[in-house]
Amino acid sequence: MTTTIRELSCADDYDPNSMPVDKARDFISKALTPITTTERLHIRAALGRVLAQDVVSPLDVPGHDNSAMDGWAYRHADLVSGGVTVMQRVGTSYAGKPYFGAVGHAECVRIFTGAVMPAGCDTVAMQERVTEDSLGVHIGNDLKAGQNRRFRGEDLKTGALALKCGSLVSPAAVGLLASLGIAEVSVYRKLRVAFFSTGDELKSIGSTLGAGEIYDSNRYTIYSMLERAGCQPIDLGNFVDTPEAIRAGFQAASANADVVITSGGVSVGEADFIKQMLDELGEVLFWKIAMKPGRPMAYGKVGGAHFFGLPGNPVAVMVTFYQFVRSALATLQGRTDYMLPPTVKATLVNKIKKMPGRTEFQRGVLTVGANGVEVRTTGDQGSGILSSMTQANCFVVLATDVGGVEPGAIVDAQMFEGGM
Ligand code: AMP
Ligand code: MG
Repeated sequence: MTTTIRELSCADDYDPNSMPVDKARDFISKALTPITTTERLHIRAALGRVLAQDVVSPLDVPGHDNSAMDGWAYRHADLVSGGVTVMQRVGTSYAGKPYFGAVGHAECVRIFTGAVMPAGCDTVAMQERVTEDSLGVHIGNDLKAGQNRRFRGEDLKTGALALKCGSLVSPAAVGLLASLGIAEVSVYRKLRVAFFSTGDELKSIGSTLGAGEIYDSNRYTIYSMLERAGCQPIDLGNFVDTPEAIRAGFQAASANADVVITSGGVSVGEADFIKQMLDELGEVLFWKIAMKPGRPMAYGKVGGAHFFGLPGNPVAVMVTFYQFVRSALATLQGRTDYMLPPTVKATLVNKIKKMPGRTEFQRGVLTVGANGVEVRTTGDQGSGILSSMTQANCFVVLATDVGGVEPGAIVDAQMFEGGM
């Protein structure tokens, strides 16, 4: 059962002014209900989508016992013990062109990888270990019965669960579906995620910057993160810092989206109207997350849509997206197999300064070399320094109670999901 936003804020351990990262994730996950609408797609088009059905194997894969090698198929019981047996070749079994004849005592069949095992044969000798001359085919007794034979149904048996509802359609899954002869599957429809930026200082790329203006980069990182997460991004542009503009933004966003994401304007500065508007339009909780970067963040419902109000600083946008939004999207998409990217232990190369009391996500470069797994941070860790994200391949995650960390310490490095 999902929890309402009001119920979340009534939990015993609820403190909006110092919300631990795990608690925030936990609160958000309680309020999520996966979408249920499905569509049928060709398996290639289903790549990156979430299966809305179990896939049960309609056939045995492989469909027949077959050879794992190029070589010679024979009956193991026909070999003389401890020596070489001279057998007579009675035919050839090619992949897709089986040998249908009988195989008598001390007879063998030339066979190729993937070819059907001739009836009566149980073992395949690798071609490099066998000689053929005018006397026949010389096969040693160095294999066990059944070696180099693949069994019918050893990959999947008819009726076996091949792929689970709620799993991601990966390249391997597309291949497996094809191996079962399945051309179409049922997947959940894409999540529609509307997003907009807020800020008087923001200009879209293509326009010329005036005094004090900057290019709006968050809309482009958010678009890219959504696209990669298999969502349908809906870019609503940038809204200036007035209550009217921001109200219009929310109305447009929540009208036809499952999720609404904004960046900027969630602190409580003079021009931060997000909170004011949401008190009017939705049910939203504003949190100061005990983390760096990404301290102010909002979560709630606007219209029927889930709402994530991310901070304005470009690095904070990415950190909060990957720590909170990404897994929430996966749940809403119907994924049951999603997990945050794994954390590995690495030896810290450089010193890190940190105050206890908040979780930090510093940008790191993890390398594997002669000294084992090492990680260094990418220099200036300001939350506006987006180049730190392009250089990094992991977050160095420093727990709440940790203070500064010296070189040589073992730290947690959370690998990025592909290049960020
Ligand atoms: P705010 O949370 O609105 O106070 O913004 C915090 C910082 O992030 C400010 O320096 C903003 O200029 C910057 N910022 C906000 N939105 C964006 C954006 N869409 N692209 C780039 N920088 C932004
Ligand atoms: Mg702003």
